[in-house]
Amino acid sequence: MAEATPLFETYNRIPLRFERGEGVWLVTESGERYLDFAAGIAVNSLGHSHPHLVETMKAQAEKLWHLSNLYESPGQEKLAARLTAATFADKVFFTNSGAEALECAIKTARRYHYAKGHPERFHIITFEGAFHGRTLATIAAGGQAKYLEGFGPKAPGFDQIPFGDLDLVKAAITDETAAILIEPVQGEGGLRSAGREFLQGLRALCDEHGLLLILDEVQCGVGRTGKLFAHEWAGITPDIMAVAKGIGGGFPLGACLATAEAAAPMVAGTHGTTYGGNPMAMAIGNAVLDIVLEDGFLEHVRDVALVFRQGLASLQDRFPDIIEDVRGEGLMLGLKARVPHSELLAAMRDEHVLGVLAGDNVIRLLPPLTTTAEEARDGIARIERAAAKLQQEQLKKSA
Ligand SMILES: *Cc1c(COP(=O)(O)O)cnc(C)c1O
Repeated sequence: MAEATPLFETYNRIPLRFERGEGVWLVTESGERYLDFAAGIAVNSLGHSHPHLVETMKAQAEKLWHLSNLYESPGQEKLAARLTAATFADKVFFTNSGAEALECAIKTARRYHYAKGHPERFHIITFEGAFHGRTLATIAAGGQAKYLEGFGPKAPGFDQIPFGDLDLVKAAITDETAAILIEPVQGEGGLRSAGREFLQGLRALCDEHGLLLILDEVQCGVGRTGKLFAHEWAGITPDIMAVAKGIGGGFPLGACLATAEAAAPMVAGTHGTTYGGNPMAMAIGNAVLDIVLEDGFLEHVRDVALVFRQGLASLQDRFPDIIEDVRGEGLMLGLKARVPHSELLAAMRDEHVLGVLAGDNVIRLLPPLTTTAEEARDGIARIERAAAKLQQEQLKKSA
């Protein structure tokens, strides 16, 4: 299988072939079950084969899949009305992915200043360790050399500075700055939280300098941290926000949310998408919200997050040579490893529990938001066995 694949070889794929999923479990072709704490990289927010999503998709499949944006869209209006009612936003543009939601956010911020007579204000301040997607603009925004290399000149207008230092942000603001773009909790960068004070500081700087605050909640949004959106923990609101991943529950769906003021210059003809917001995506996005907005759902996320947090903290205490730190918010958790993180992840996989690698030698645990406390404990017990095995091996090596 590894040799002569007809696929672009852009991924080092793990040799597992899954056939189906049930809630938090993935099942291989040969019937082996894995506890899925990767959840399609925070996408399968309601786990696999959630009955409400399955029913919704079947029903919509018999009506209308795709329409384009040539006609009115009741599904978009409904989902946008629910998103705006639940957030700071007044306006929504639907996309198929996170990177496209960010592209819309970046274009909206630039167009806002252009419409005010300041086309020179197109620079966006971004942060080290950020990840915003793989399009040409979003790799420039993310600023990671490994993603930029070989793809021609970096798209201009992204000024990257270290994460978490307000003085550096202040110093980076110029007459050409349009916006500040940040993930409230960095995902791929290694589960670093921007924190309440920093986000509040960014909000104040934006207000002071007439900048737009853009939040990338593609990974940390839609209930992942125990609030509908992660910035709610900081008591601030952005001007523009990119959402994707969890909002589609596994169907490709993203959204760019904005205040009326920020979205005003995005008039007919300025932006578009063929697939974005199609009736199938809207049916499923609405079905995800049916569940996530239910009374008690976010409380469940916070409760299960606590079970994870305590369990993982105790593993860190007992295996300090394997686990250096536990980070993150809600069900967006990071295990900073003392061994190479890929070794710990492989040992976990041997115990049939899945996670995702992140930067800074961290393993991400992004379980479905529907994970029960019992499934959380099952997962922690598996991670414990993985850590114990690695510790045994270390002792053998040093003996
Ligand atoms: C995944 C991710 C993106 C990109 O989303 P795609 O759907 O892969 O384009 C952008 N920002 C963050 C924070 C992400 O986690």
